[in-house]
Amino acid sequence: MVLMENTRIRFSQHPAWLKVRFPGGPTFHNLKRLVRDHELHTVCESANCPNIGECWEKGTATFMILGNICTRRCGFCAVKTGRPQGYDLDEPGRVARAVQTLKLRYAVVTSVDRDDLEDEGSCVFAQTILQIRELNPGTHVEVLIPDFKSSIQNLETVMAAKPDVLAHNLDTVPRLYPRVKPKSSYQHSLSLLYYVKDKAPHIKTKVGFMLGLGEEIEEIYQGMDDVLTARVDILTIGQYLRPSLKHLPLLKHYHPDEFKELKRIGEAKGIPHVESGPLVRSSYHAAEQVQQLMGNLNS
Ligand code: SF4
Repeated sequence: MVLMENTRIRFSQHPAWLKVRFPGGPTFHNLKRLVRDHELHTVCESANCPNIGECWEKGTATFMILGNICTRRCGFCAVKTGRPQGYDLDEPGRVARAVQTLKLRYAVVTSVDRDDLEDEGSCVFAQTILQIRELNPGTHVEVLIPDFKSSIQNLETVMAAKPDVLAHNLDTVPRLYPRVKPKSSYQHSLSLLYYVKDKAPHIKTKVGFMLGLGEEIEEIYQGMDDVLTARVDILTIGQYLRPSLKHLPLLKHYHPDEFKELKRIGEAKGIPHVESGPLVRSSYHAAEQVQQLMGNLNS
């Protein structure tokens, strides 16, 4: 694989393959209204996801629970940070009703980090899974969870609600954690994924990396080996996009062919399904990722 030289890339200098259409069709506006009417948040909006035009026009979104203020301050993330106040016990019901209104057969839920709460929001996660199921029998639920620091008890609270897919992002390679995710631990996140597969092998697990923050190719391969050791089912790899000049610089644009090659290498190593592309995010085409995984496992 040919690697391009690392250089600092200005905010506006994106190659053609990262250009996305401007959001704004009728389904997009209906979804926006629904999110406001149900007083919900989505990571699509809060994290400035580049896929919002495509996903929302198709009527899919990723709900972000536990408010919209995060207690961590990761260098890549556009979500607001600060000191959130309490939490909203009606939120799981509102998410479930939004899933019903959207007629979603596959719902994806994530959250901000809530290190201020003793249960770190795990009970609200569990309630959200249960209430989505109760109101929408047959709908599959994927949760993208924080690391719950080291609390196995909080992790088990979520696992007990039996999400179909449990995702947790490593985001970057361990060497870059002090700069990219200073309040998190690569090893702890990896152990979390390992624990879930060990205790609940029926839950599909998923992990995401983003590229362009200064990682070396050997470190990406090592990350794949780690993912394999934790028996993760789905690996997503996407391009980091700098949300603003206050965030970490984007050091490298990977070409779509490089992403394709990483998919090939990851699957050759034995990871059951690798989704890899410039605009790939953990929740991008989430339902299709699981369908393809099942196809790969059955073939
Ligand atoms: S990729 Fe995920 S976060 Fe981005 S718009 Fe689509 S559903 Fe939302």
